[in-house]
Amino acid sequence: SAVDRYAVLGNPIAHSKSPAIHSAFAAQTGQRLSYERIEVPLDAFAARVGELIAAGYLGFNVTVPFKEQAFALAQRRTPRAQAAGAVNTLMPTSDGLLGDNTDGAGLVADLQRLGVQLAGARVLLLGAGGASRGVILPLREAGVARIAICNRTADKAQALAIEFGIAVQAAESTDTPYDVVINATSAGLAGALPPLPTGAVAVHTLAYDMLYGAQPTAFMQHCSGLGARVADGLGMLVGQAAESFALWRGVRPDAEPVLAQLRAAMKD
Ligand code: NDP
Repeated sequence: SAVDRYAVLGNPIAHSKSPAIHSAFAAQTGQRLSYERIEVPLDAFAARVGELIAAGYLGFNVTVPFKEQAFALAQRRTPRAQAAGAVNTLMPTSDGLLGDNTDGAGLVADLQRLGVQLAGARVLLLGAGGASRGVILPLREAGVARIAICNRTADKAQALAIEFGIAVQAAESTDTPYDVVINATSAGLAGALPPLPTGAVAVHTLAYDMLYGAQPTAFMQHCSGLGARVADGLGMLVGQAAESFALWRGVRPDAEPVLAQLRAAMKD
């Protein structure tokens, strides 16, 4: 019979690394499947998903700008998708279209890979958009002691803090450094620094940027200068893919060698 088909849906989608990641997972686990990039017109998400399911596709990753539309389209949602208010993974099932969100689990897995002790940790989230919202529940389930949120637009940090029962961190300064500071803003796309309270980053802090690229981000460079250990978000990307793969295939791939492979390819 025909090979099992999966795809990542977005717009734009040309630069997505997801096909390379899922192909590597398939090779590693001995699964036979195909995984494509599909650019979906901005006004046609629901219709296109319907057509692809009718054509036999078994699952989708969903990226910018469709994660909220995927959430609305899903007929059932996992608790972590419900908390995130966004869906990055879809799977047609006999009980309807299932929506999951694996971004937060991907972050948690990457922090664990980096050796961070999350149980009891103090975590600062920079940014109050979808990426920040999506990681709060998975971080809490990993046992962190405190989550605080800091954002350029303070009202948005306040709203998330109330919704999730977490703390607001003022952008100016703090007396107690955090164990992990996560940049979940898009400031780095423009080469800018996110709001970072003085004193938040110490030498024991892991400064984690959800952005990734061939070069360290402005946030990573700044935090390195403060003596902190730094990491970019490529491992989170591979981690979320591994979680999606596990949902679809019932087999959990090892992210580490695939991350190393991607990292090497980015240097070329
Ligand atoms: P949103 O657009 O929902 O949120 C953007 C956030 O960034 C807001 O809090 C916004 O603040 C802040 N921001 C934007 N520009 C600046 C600036 N110049 N200075 C300070 N703050 C700024 O984006 P998402 O939450 O969806 O995504 C955030 C980033 O995370 C993206 O760049 C994305 O690529 C990355 N990401 C990475 C993933 C991975 O797997 N590695 C997974 C998901 C996301 P304000 O409220 O004041 O506007």
